[in-house]
Amino acid sequence: MFLVLKFGGTSVGSAQRIKDLVKFCVTPAPKIVVLSAMSGTTNALVEICEALYAKEIEKATTLISILKLKYDKEIKDLYSKPKSIEKAEQLITNHFNHLLSFTMDMFTVNEEKAILAQGELLSTALFHYYLEECGFDSALLPALNFMKIDANDEPDMAYIEKFALEELKKHPEQKLFITQGYICRNVFGEIDNLKRGGSDYTASIIGAAIKSTEVQIWTDIDGMHNNDPRIVDKTHPIKELSFDEAAELAYFGAKILHPTCILPAKKRNIPVRLKNTLQPEALGTLIANINTNEGIKAVAAKDGITAINIKSDRMLLAHGFLRAVFEIFERYKTPIDMICTSEVAVSLTIDNNKNLGGITKELKEIAMVEIDDNQTIICIVGQLPKDKSGYANKVLDALKDIPLRMVSYGGSANNISVLVNGSLKKEALQALNKGLFNY
Ligand code: ADP
Ligand code: ASP
Ligand code: MG
Repeated sequence: MFLVLKFGGTSVGSAQRIKDLVKFCVTPAPKIVVLSAMSGTTNALVEICEALYAKEIEKATTLISILKLKYDKEIKDLYSKPKSIEKAEQLITNHFNHLLSFTMDMFTVNEEKAILAQGELLSTALFHYYLEECGFDSALLPALNFMKIDANDEPDMAYIEKFALEELKKHPEQKLFITQGYICRNVFGEIDNLKRGGSDYTASIIGAAIKSTEVQIWTDIDGMHNNDPRIVDKTHPIKELSFDEAAELAYFGAKILHPTCILPAKKRNIPVRLKNTLQPEALGTLIANINTNEGIKAVAAKDGITAINIKSDRMLLAHGFLRAVFEIFERYKTPIDMICTSEVAVSLTIDNNKNLGGITKELKEIAMVEIDDNQTIICIVGQLPKDKSGYANKVLDALKDIPLRMVSYGGSANNISVLVNGSLKKEALQALNKGLFNY
């Protein structure tokens, strides 16, 4: 049975950090190690793509050279043997020549996806060479040979299971595999990805596919904290979360986990452990099929939300009206996050504005429509039994000075959500830190 260990961008962010990973990977337990790109690389690749879309070829070429300089430096610090340095130099030359080749061609979304894949391809090969230099045997598992999404951009689990096992079988004695997070193929067989932060998702999908004993997400903080440490001053790590609690936090903005990364692990009941590479002795967070203590555990915020208010004094209560509304969102493949209704209106939120124009046009055919963009969902998560009073009270009391655009309570026993204007996010998270966690 294999463990799956995922190391994020900061954990492979420099030669020294890559060296520090060896101790986690060469213990006797068989492992599949999933790596992100070195931190900053995917952002740099996104910038290169933006320049290429804008046909700013000189700018793109300069950005490619700047990124290459970083890798030239890192490999000098990483390897000491001439043979490894030579191999790494060749690898970097190949990948950067490949990047440069896009400056000469037409640039479309397919080229963009191929460019974004370079970071993970580089980090995994560099780590594999480093293990080799240290005398540790490992094998590279090419994610593009088995990670696949379907026509709805969902992981194609049957395909992944079959081909991941086939890749593993090519090395029957091997105990240590290294593979790329984030990258995959789409339904057309083209290179694609699992969206930003997607390496967590890769780890959980692989864990589910091979029925791993545990998925470990190693990052730069000691687990899931009760609030966003980038925004509020004082936070603490949470020891245990149920799958449902963790899924809500990830989906509603806790950046430590990719939004949908808990689901594959939950489906196969595989525990997910969040650990800190800089402080490996810290307990971190265990996410599993457990009954955690009652109470509020954490809050998270998701930005870039659009609220849509749909008003129809004649039709709202009419049979079939809500179905007509939902069908419009379904046609545009746009998921709804929050929803609140009154007798004459329904307010709902979406986080994907791509088809807002079409959605609004169709909604206007059946009702009056108002749009508020730049909203933030604040999600309060824990074990909050609906039959006990007090939880909604506590939350509303903590937020008493902040105007709330929507409140959603009772949908699940794990979540209370409120919608606030984006400009009030910090204030709301601070108020909740004080009101719910006494900071
Ligand atoms: P990686 O590169 O390892 O994937 P990320 O940057 O994606 O790491 O995620 C880790 C970061 O998530 C932390 O450094 C922290 O700032 C941020 N973060 C946001 N919300 C939380 C939270 N509730 N608990 C822990 N970390 C959080
Ligand atoms: N490298 C990708 C990103 O920066 C995936 C990941 O790090 O999880 O989004
Ligand atoms: Mg991440």
